[in-house]
Amino acid sequence: MASELRPETVSVHVGNEADPATGAVAPPIHLATTFRHGPAGERVAGYEYQREGNPTNDRLREALAALEGGATASTFASGMAAISGLLECLPNGARVLIPDDCYTGLRMVCAEFLPERGIEAVMIDMADLDAVRAACAKGVDLLWIETPSNPKMKVCDIAALAEIGHAHEAIVVADNTFATPLLQRPLALGADVVMHSTTKYFGGHSDVLGGALVFAKDDALAQKVAHRLHVTGATLAPFSAWLILRGCRSLGARMAMHCANARAVADFLAAHPAIERVNYPGLASHAGHGVAAKQMRDFGGMLSIELRGGREAALAMAGKLRVFTNATSLGGCESLVEHRASVEGPNPRSPQNLLRMSVGLEHVDDLIADLRQALDGVG
Ligand code: PLP
Repeated sequence: MASELRPETVSVHVGNEADPATGAVAPPIHLATTFRHGPAGERVAGYEYQREGNPTNDRLREALAALEGGATASTFASGMAAISGLLECLPNGARVLIPDDCYTGLRMVCAEFLPERGIEAVMIDMADLDAVRAACAKGVDLLWIETPSNPKMKVCDIAALAEIGHAHEAIVVADNTFATPLLQRPLALGADVVMHSTTKYFGGHSDVLGGALVFAKDDALAQKVAHRLHVTGATLAPFSAWLILRGCRSLGARMAMHCANARAVADFLAAHPAIERVNYPGLASHAGHGVAAKQMRDFGGMLSIELRGGREAALAMAGKLRVFTNATSLGGCESLVEHRASVEGPNPRSPQNLLRMSVGLEHVDDLIADLRQALDGVG
């Protein structure tokens, strides 16, 4: 039923079908670690052992594949487990291109673990297509896209990058965590794989950790990733799968409000004299606004700001916020703020004057009043 329905409808229904055994409208959570089988291991209803699959997880896999327009999905214990699960399937000696602005965890895996297998990861400005072409000409096995990016909200052209990557027979992956499939569908734009930290908007309530990979085709790569996951065991727990599945039901409504609130917050901050720059792709002044408008339905709930007064001003503002909570992560109902440079480890890449904001579902007037008081007197 998924293909002809709009994403809001798909997110409410797919994977959430009434339980055939009882008619329950909310899906059951199957906590069983093992499933009865015949004397020679014959499966009774397709399941054997939780690490290899369970009915609650399968509902979520179906929902994620439908929402992203993919053929199949694997779910993981976290977004980082999903990232690692994919990168571990690359051959030794592979070459990977990653964005110069991307989630720190990806950068850390590339810097700390891939070299052990002779895999080179090159950071590149994915908005500069000529630079990407030149880097691909030196060889590329996997091209990693993150748009909008964390934390600078850089935007890159998924369709153009997929074309370049495919011309070099690279696997093209898009981290769609910030946008969600409600706003952006990378597989339809040519990507081969979509990655999610379902910890964020899918879960939606800052109470569940999860990750996913959605594949355009149920091909050798999808099967290799699934097999590796089943053997190595970074499996998503059924209760977590159920919470993320529950998050799907309200994803459309939440994303609409996240977008509306973030736009109002971005407009307010862009007009404030203490702010040097607002990184929000919905602003016409954003370098990637045109590309974002082309490939996104709306611009999302994430933004970052750079303060004129440098690190001191950023920390002063973060310290004065009351409705926004100082915390890491994003995509929950509550608004969060974070001085990324303080939490990125020994070699932070984020500017010292940058604060990242996950704009939540509070009343927008309260958010703006909070920002106004926090900026009062901040140079
Ligand atoms: N990708 C992005 C864009 C993220 O922001 C994060 C976490 O913040 C991840 C991946 C990693 O996900 P997780 O924290 O669920 O492991």
